[in-house]
Amino acid sequence: MSTITDGVLVALTKLKTLELAEDKKSVLVGPGLQWGDVYRYLLPHNVFVVGGRITNIGVPGFLLGGGISYLGSRWGFGMDNVEEFEVVLADSSVVRANKRSHLDLFWALKGGSSNFGIVTSFRLTAHPITGKAWIGKFAYSTATDPDTGKRNHMETVLDKLQAFVDKNDDTSGVLPLFMYVPQHGGPIGDISVIKLDVEGKMEMGAGSIQGEYGPTPDMIHVPKLFKDMTEEIPPMMGAWNISHPYQLTLAMNPDAPDGFRQSFRVHAAKATRESLELITHIFYNRIPELLEKLPAEEILQTLGQTSVIIQPITKNMLKQGEKRGGYIITVTWFDPKYDEIMNEWSDLTSELTYEALGKKGLSHPFIYMNDAHGNQDAFAGYGQREMKRLKKIREQYDPKRLWKKGLVGGYKIPE
Ligand SMILES: Cc1cc2nc3c(=O)[nH]c(=O)nc-3n(C[C@H](O)[C@H](O)[C@H](O)COP(=O)(O)OP(=O)(O)OC[C@H]3O[C@@H](n4cnc5c(N)ncnc54)[C@H](O)[C@@H]3O)c2cc1C
Repeated sequence: MSTITDGVLVALTKLKTLELAEDKKSVLVGPGLQWGDVYRYLLPHNVFVVGGRITNIGVPGFLLGGGISYLGSRWGFGMDNVEEFEVVLADSSVVRANKRSHLDLFWALKGGSSNFGIVTSFRLTAHPITGKAWIGKFAYSTATDPDTGKRNHMETVLDKLQAFVDKNDDTSGVLPLFMYVPQHGGPIGDISVIKLDVEGKMEMGAGSIQGEYGPTPDMIHVPKLFKDMTEEIPPMMGAWNISHPYQLTLAMNPDAPDGFRQSFRVHAAKATRESLELITHIFYNRIPELLEKLPAEEILQTLGQTSVIIQPITKNMLKQGEKRGGYIITVTWFDPKYDEIMNEWSDLTSELTYEALGKKGLSHPFIYMNDAHGNQDAFAGYGQREMKRLKKIREQYDPKRLWKKGLVGGYKIPE
C-alpha cells in the first residue's frame, strides 16, 4: 500500500488467502494476490470471478476502485461481486462489512478506495461456468488509404463495436485498443473478444486467421456476434480459441509488457458511434506530434503500446440508466528522460478529446478511479448525494482522518 516519507510501508503481499467455499458459491481472497493467482486456483472448479483483464493486476485496488472485467455485462463491476470485506479500522478493530453488518461501510468500500480502512480479505461471488468460452484477438489496419484519404476499415470496425454495445449481450465482452504500431505500418485496431459457453455446446478448438486469405473455414465456429466483425473485414492477423476464459487474460498480458513506463488518462463518454469516431480521430491526429518529438529507437520500442482503449460500459453493467463508455489514453515509454513529453502529450490529448466530446454533448463527468491519472480527481465525478453519504460514513469510521493523513497516495475523499 502507499507509503509516506518517514512513515511505514504496510505490505500486504503475504495475505494470500484463497479458499473456495464448500458449496462453491463464493471464494475468500486475500489482498496480497493478483488476479492470475485467483484464476489459476479456480481453474479446476468450474467457477469464475469478476477480475482483471490481464493476470498481473492487484486484487485489492481493482475491487476497491470499481473493477471492469470482460464479463461486466453479465456480472457487473468487480465491486458488485464482493459479498464481504474484512477490514481493519482506524481504531484498530477488525470488522466484517456485508449486507447484514456494517452495511454503510460495505456500501462505501465499493468505490471508496483506501478511505475507510485496510481490507484484509474479500469474499467474492463465484460464478458457475462450463469452463469454456470462445475467445478471439484480431488486429485490423486502420491506416489512411492514400486514394480516399479515409482510414481503412475504421468505419466498419467502429460500426461493429457500436453494434456490440447496442446489443447489450450478457454473455460477451469486447476490449478494443486503437494503437500506433510502427512495425505494422502505423494505426492498428486491436480487438479482443469473449463469448461464454453458457449452454455447454462449444467444442474445444483453436485456429488462426490470416487476413490476406480471408476467414478460414474454421471460422464457422465463430459466434454470430463476432462473425460479422471478422467476415466483412478480414483482420491482418488474429487467433481464436475455445478455451477457459482465463486464457484471454493470459493472451492480453503482452499488451501490458513489464519493464516500461506507463501512464493512463481516463474519461467517460456517451457510448455513441459519434463518440467513438471523435476519440479515435483525435488520438490518431495527435500521433505525428509524438513521432516528431521522440527518437526513432524510442518510437519503435514504445509506440506500439501507446493506445486509446475503449471500455464499453453497457446497460447491463449499470443495470439502469444511459449507456456510458469509458476511454483510456495510455502512453507507454521506456526512457525516463521522455517522462515530460509523454505526460504532456497525454494531458493535452485527454483534454482535447474531453472538450470535443463536451461540445457535442457527449462527455460524461465520471472518471474511473482505477484508470485515472494522479492529476485527475476521481471523486469529482461521483454524484453529490453519494459524496455526501461517503463523507458521513468516513466521519463515523475515521473521524481523525488516519487514512487520509497516514496513508497518502491514491484518491482521498475531499473535506
Ligand atoms: C496494465 C494494466 C491493466 C489494467 N487492467 C484493468 C482492468 O482490466 N480492469 C480494471 O478495472 N482496471 C484495470 N487496471 C487498473 C487497476 O485496476 C488499478 O491499477 C488497481 O488499482 C490495481 O490494484 P492494486 O491492488 O495493484 O492497486 P494499488 O496500486 O496497490 O492500490 C490502489 C489503491 O488502493 C489502496 N489499497 C490497496 N490495497 C488496499 C487494501 N487492502 N485496503 C485498502 N486500500 C487498499 C492503495 O492504498 C491505493 O490507494 C489496469 C492497470 C494496469 C496497469
